[in-house]
Amino acid sequence: MAKTRCVKCGVVPVTFELVPIMPTAPRLKLFGPSYAGSKPVAVQCAACGTTIGVSDFLNIKELMDKLEEIAGRLDRIERRLPK
Ligand SMILES: [Zn+2]
Repeated sequence: MAKTRCVKCGVVPVTFELVPIMPTAPRLKLFGPSYAGSKPVAVQCAACGTTIGVSDFLNIKELMDKLEEIAGRLDRIERRLPK
């Protein structure tokens, strides 16, 4: 399997770090609804600081857990509805 390489400095193996960023629009929403405490972060090469992406601070696992919780609630509501 190929190893991930930084496009600027070429360091291998590359390590990435998450760095909080301050968007010009203070309440910028990157991917749909933001949850309290969600802040955008840059994903950057830990060696040279080149940004390779931007993401919400909350990770996908937390969002999937929230969706699962909502689906469970909807399921319970649906079971109570008359057929
Ligand atoms: Zn780099």
